[in-house]
Parts: sequence; structure tokens; C-alpha cells
Amino acid sequence: MLFLYFLVSRSGMPVSYHQELEVAIRSVRVAAHVCRAVQDDMVTPQSLEKKDRSPVTVADFASQAIVCKLLGDVLPDDPVVGEEDAAALRQDEQVHVRDAVAQHVCEVLGDDSLDTNRVLSWIDRGNADGSTGRYWTLDPIDGTKGFLRKEQYAIALALIEHHEVVLGVLGCPNLSVGDQKGALYWAHEGVGAHAAPLWEGTAVPSPVTVSDSTDTSSARFCESVESAHSDQSQSGQIAARLGITNEAVRLDSQAKYAVVARGEADIYMRLPTRADYRENIWDHAAGMAIIQAAGGKVTDITGTQLDFSYGKRLEQNKGIIATNGKLHDQVIEAVSAVVDL
Ligand code: AMP
Ligand code: MG
Repeated sequence: MLFLYFLVSRSGMPVSYHQELEVAIRSVRVAAHVCRAVQDDMVTPQSLEKKDRSPVTVADFASQAIVCKLLGDVLPDDPVVGEEDAAALRQDEQVHVRDAVAQHVCEVLGDDSLDTNRVLSWIDRGNADGSTGRYWTLDPIDGTKGFLRKEQYAIALALIEHHEVVLGVLGCPNLSVGDQKGALYWAHEGVGAHAAPLWEGTAVPSPVTVSDSTDTSSARFCESVESAHSDQSQSGQIAARLGITNEAVRLDSQAKYAVVARGEADIYMRLPTRADYRENIWDHAAGMAIIQAAGGKVTDITGTQLDFSYGKRLEQNKGIIATNGKLHDQVIEAVSAVVDL
């Protein structure tokens, strides 16, 4: 991790959060390897239905086990608010999924001596509720549906201290950079937002900045592939109001935040499809940190700051608007004209 030290020193800022950034980046990279290994093996998706009917795969559990284990080795007192827990896996009928999770974790960590119960206990390290002053939040596979379609997904990890997101790391295994697939993004105040190839630990990182666009008519916006996650009819109306002529770019996962952070899109709209839906913190914390450090802005659809003081969910917020900053007020104004707030 020599490059990280160089980067922080070059910025002239104190080397704070060095240890956190180092372990977070390493954990996300190893988790990305396990996700890719599961995906390569995936003939028929090994998934089981959670109560909310979203698919959970071997990779979600294996990714959470790895991140919690590697974080726990370095920062044993830090709680983790993760999306998954091992309760479903402990059921008798899940023995095949459970064994597959343990086997993939063993392979990626290069440790044949691991028993399944230890792997399950790492998954359960992610059961914190976000009521402490400092904790991590993890989406081990954000965009599970994209993962199952072999499209975009992300491993998203963020550190929250006193209700503020102070650090975020996003691994995007299928996001292209030039002609290569696999991009890693991270951010921390004082370090800015940076990108590196996901699979190569030795590559020199490059700074990431949002677009300069101030003209809505040439703006590019992104949104969920899943129409159940964001109202695509309303986003179309908002785009028309803003004079946007480009088609929506539809991507699963927090890859949308990465695409805005690196200036390929200018706007990310996530418009509630249900009045009672509250966003999960692990779906937004890492992406928000990266866009903000890249010079952009993230609020809810009313223009209110995201409030990370309510545990697992953004209880006080409705939907998400993320932009390059310069277009933010215009987008919020258009949202208010279209959406019944
Ligand atoms: P995306 O890939 O951007 O569509 O977002 C995937 C995330 O959407 C998942 O991790 C879920 O937590 C979240 N999700 C599930 N149901 C909804 C919903 N009704 N509205 C918004 N997000 C949702
Ligand atoms: Mg998610």
C-alpha cells in the first residue's frame, strides 16, 4: 500500500485515516475477487429468496464475511452495519449455499482450515444497528440483480463517525475504465476522490472530479435499471423540463455514483416509487462520500442533506439527487415541479 502513503503525503494533509483507508480498500478488493469467482462459477444463480424477495447469492454472504473478517482483524472494536446476516444460511435446507459460501471464502483467503461456523460468525459481525458513535456500513453486493444479470454491481463500504460519512470505498467489478473492466474508487476528506484499477494493487491512483457542465440541455443523467427502485416516468418528465435530450443511462448499484463522480454523467436521480420507502444507509454512504470529494453534491429529492443519525435507514430523507454540484439547484427545482413532495 505504498501508493496510498504517497498520495496522502502529496496532498499535504495529515496522514489521518491511513489505517482505515488501507484496510477498507484491501477488504473491498478481496471481496471483489470472491464476487468474481462466484460469478464465474454461476451457471444457474445460486440464490435464495429473502423476505423482501430480493435475490441473495452466495457472493453476497461471502463478500460480507470477507470484509467483516479483514476489517475485524485490524479494527476489532469497530461495529459493522451490513446488509446481510447469517440467520437464513443457518437453516438446515441452506446447507448447500452455506457450504458454497464457506468454500469460496476459504479459497479467496487461501486458508483450508476454516470451518463454516467461523465464516458465519464473520457474516454476523455485520449485524450492528448504527447506534454507536463510529461504525462501518457495508453493502457486500449492491445491485444483486445487476450481479445476477452479469451487469453492474458494487461492493460498497463506508465509515460513519458521529453521523457523518468520513470515508467511502466503492469496488465496481464490471465498470469499464478505458478498455479494462474493474474500477475502484475511494474518498476521504483531505484526500479527495481517487480511482484505481480494481484488480491491480500496484497501479498509481488518479484523482476523480465531477463534470463542469452548467448547461442542463446537454446534461446526462443516470438512474436505476429497476423501475421499482426509482420512478422512471417522473425522471423522464424532470429531464424534459430541464431540456435534457440525452437518454437516461440505466445502471444497477452505486456504480451510478462513480459515473457521476468521474464526470461521465452529471445527474443521478432516485425518485421514490412508494411514499413509505426509506433508503438504506449502505446503499448511499460510500457513493455519497465519493461524489462529494469529487466536487459534487448529494441530497434527497427535496434538497435536504442526507441524515445519517437514524441507524440503518435514512428515516428523514426521501429519495436521492446527486449531481456535479453546479446543476443541483436546477434539478431540485425541476423535481419539485414534477414530484408531489
Ligand atoms: P439500484 O441498483 O440502484 O436499483 O439499487 C439497489 C438497491 O435498491 C438495493 O440494494 C435495495 O436496498 C434498494 N431497494 C429495494 N427496494 C427499493 C425501493 N422500493 N426503492 C428504492 N430502493 C430500493
Ligand atoms: Mg444495495
